[in-house]
Amino acid sequence: MFRMTCRCFTALALAGSALGLTLAAPVLAQTAPAVFPVDGTLPHTAVPSHYAIAIRPDPKALTFAGTFAIDLDVPQPVPALVLNAAQITLGEATLVAPDGRRLALTVTPDAAAETVQLAAAGGIAAGRYRVEGVYTGRIDTQADGLFALDYTGNDGKPTRALFTQFEPSYARAFAPMFDEPSYKATFDLSVVVPVGRMAVSNMPVASEQPIGNGLKKVIFATTPKMASYLLFFGTGDFERLSKMTSAGVVAGIVSPKGSGEQARFALDELAGLIPYYIAYFGVNYPLPKIDNVAGPGQSQFFSAMENWGAVFTFQRDLLLDPRTTSPQQREFIEVAQAHEVAHQWFGDLVTMAWWDDLWLNEGFASWMETKATDHFHPDWFELLQRVSGREAAMGLDAYRTTHPIVQHIRTVDEANQAFDAITYQKGEAVLAMLEAYAGQDTWRDGIRAYMAAHKFGNSHTADLWNAVEAAGATGLTTIATDFTTQPGIPLVRVGEATCAAGKTTLKLTQEEYTRDRIGEPSTRRWHVPLLVSVGGGAPQRSVMADGSATLTLDGCGPVVINAGQLGYYRTLYTPTELSQLTAALPQLAPIDQRGLIADQLELGLSGYQPLSGPLELLAALPETANPRVAADAVGRFDSLYDRLDGDAAGQAALAKRVIALWKPRLDALGYDSRSSDTLPDADLRATLVSVLGHMGEPGVVAEARRRFAAFDRNPHALDGPLQQDWLAIVARNATPADWDKLARMAQASKSTVARSDLYDHLGGARDVVLAKRALDLALTDTPGKTTSASIIASVAANHSELAFDFFLAHRDAVLALVDASGQTTYVERLAGHAYSPSMVDKLTAYEQSLPADAKKPVERALGRLKNRLAIKDRIDHETLAWLKGGCIHPFASTLPTA
Ligand SMILES: [Zn+2]
Repeated sequence: MFRMTCRCFTALALAGSALGLTLAAPVLAQTAPAVFPVDGTLPHTAVPSHYAIAIRPDPKALTFAGTFAIDLDVPQPVPALVLNAAQITLGEATLVAPDGRRLALTVTPDAAAETVQLAAAGGIAAGRYRVEGVYTGRIDTQADGLFALDYTGNDGKPTRALFTQFEPSYARAFAPMFDEPSYKATFDLSVVVPVGRMAVSNMPVASEQPIGNGLKKVIFATTPKMASYLLFFGTGDFERLSKMTSAGVVAGIVSPKGSGEQARFALDELAGLIPYYIAYFGVNYPLPKIDNVAGPGQSQFFSAMENWGAVFTFQRDLLLDPRTTSPQQREFIEVAQAHEVAHQWFGDLVTMAWWDDLWLNEGFASWMETKATDHFHPDWFELLQRVSGREAAMGLDAYRTTHPIVQHIRTVDEANQAFDAITYQKGEAVLAMLEAYAGQDTWRDGIRAYMAAHKFGNSHTADLWNAVEAAGATGLTTIATDFTTQPGIPLVRVGEATCAAGKTTLKLTQEEYTRDRIGEPSTRRWHVPLLVSVGGGAPQRSVMADGSATLTLDGCGPVVINAGQLGYYRTLYTPTELSQLTAALPQLAPIDQRGLIADQLELGLSGYQPLSGPLELLAALPETANPRVAADAVGRFDSLYDRLDGDAAGQAALAKRVIALWKPRLDALGYDSRSSDTLPDADLRATLVSVLGHMGEPGVVAEARRRFAAFDRNPHALDGPLQQDWLAIVARNATPADWDKLARMAQASKSTVARSDLYDHLGGARDVVLAKRALDLALTDTPGKTTSASIIASVAANHSELAFDFFLAHRDAVLALVDASGQTTYVERLAGHAYSPSMVDKLTAYEQSLPADAKKPVERALGRLKNRLAIKDRIDHETLAWLKGGCIHPFASTLPTA
């Protein structure tokens, strides 16, 4: 284990501060010579090595007072220091020179730049200094900086807990800081909180002492050298369930008092993840403990945050309540925690130098979350879920508004927007492809070398490729560079295969797959690693290097070009080949069934081929398919059902087909949990209930109503993993009386998670009058500060334009309900289900009202909306023709010439 040297905070508190703390003689840190970070936006005037921050929150007033002391190195004479500061007000600030002289600093904030300039009369000579000061700040009610979450406590009374959220750029709202990822330093944090309240930070408590008036001062041990966005503080009426891991690190789940055994599932997972990652990365976990801290409420931006040693997770994604937790949430608890714990190495120990390389954090943690979950729960078939990630990424990447995985970030808003499916899921997909290319052992050796070389420091994308290539993955950098520095998706077009003497020969050509530029020439080309299976044989390797390839492969029979679905590209087969694959579908591996269906459907929807072939493929999936593959197929039928919105006869015809195909599987699974259920079984049951309920299957709808009615006599009638699915069906078809009952249930609910879910359901009504009532309710204080934005998003799922109009009419009030980091992407979500041409005009006008760095998400929403409108008639026509079993002629000639 890494050994810490504790530098207690008491020596660094300030004289004469607003907090009445005392200042001892400054003890200046002995640091290595300053090396400026090469990225970022702060001027290169100083490099910090250590922070001492003391905070005294006033939760009632939603304010706090703070003191700071920063040890730093000034390598060249400068007139002033420039630090980040946002939404805090600095009082006096002093520069303590190496000889102990104290110089008053002139404080000049720049609110727009989120900086503060600290100038000394006569300038600042080169040398090592300490900067000290006092300041005040505000406590937010959304998850930015230091923020408050209100909930009903264990004793039934309203209670308030405080937490911090700093990524990407809100540490500067907590204290003046060099708030960029490459300015790594150690941190001492001290806080004043009520006696009886728990305080949590990255490091364990070093000392705790009462200071009178019912308050205590808590001092945390010094952190390792780390980026400012990883600092954490939380306090409230908490309890902690903990255990020692086999790696000698204490794992703990911190949660609202009374959570009890709800934290057990997450704790057991957490305790296993630490030794697993130590073994994988070959580097020890350098802190003595790791907590995962549960916060009630939610964010429109994130679920969990990887603060080093003190992960923060919203309660719904961490605590398991058998009365309400769905199978999907249960899976998410595991996956989210596997993600955040992977970050303790990839992100916290080694950090991207600047937000351009955010994907190094997020793509990697996403890839690792799947790998770790598959390791601990092989019966969850987690690797099959990667297809959904690939499709989510391609859903953005197919449009002209996309961006490369590695992108240049200039502003805070651009950094916020970088947390998208390209950074996460395309990052994961490309890493999975590269691991397959390198081989698992070579890949891991490269990762270990990379970790060892950059621990406690920063890195760029090229450092990772160099390490893996040096471990033996020859040619990897070329492929990796193609997929990370240029945006978009390769399309591999397959020529007619011929079989002779037991060998198959086929020609492949490469283009770019796109949604909004079909037929336009593209110069983008990729080195594409291929794994091709013929006639069910083992995959054969090759690399498509220059836009075309002729393959001669062992064996004859149906050809799967992306066997194992690890390649990030689409494959367009000839109609004959697709028919052969449709016939062979029941015999294909589950991953290829799922990947092939998704890929072919998208090629049909986008117009590269008629939709009938992919629909035949979708319908050919056997009723006994792997539950993960079955759930995905049923979900794809559901989105086709949504596309037919407004055509009741068309929807009824599709529903009839889907019920005939999949209701027997639901009948076999039953409505209630069984002890023999695996998680994928439970997940498939929930998906079938949800989708068939959505399509109005009479038996499922009646069962939802029966359980909802029974709730009047028995408050536990809806308990269980399907609770939210039954309620969603009731809410969708709600009468005013149903809606009122749901509202009463929401208000009476003692579970913060169930309560916010119930409020979301109020937004799910198809009835427009009830949808309007939900919107009005969202702007009242009733649902709670972090629930309202979610209600409006829930309305948008059925009534996109209504929700968007409501947003425009109450723009400031609605945005006040969304965390600052999530504001630009929240509007994109509201418009995500829109289908009307009038929304194009409204979104265009809205986009024009935004500053340049906030336009991108709205441009993305506009691009997708225009595409949905452009293809709607063709999709409807082809879907209905397929349902009638007739011959389908392409409705509009959008097919590219090949
Ligand atoms: Zn992450």
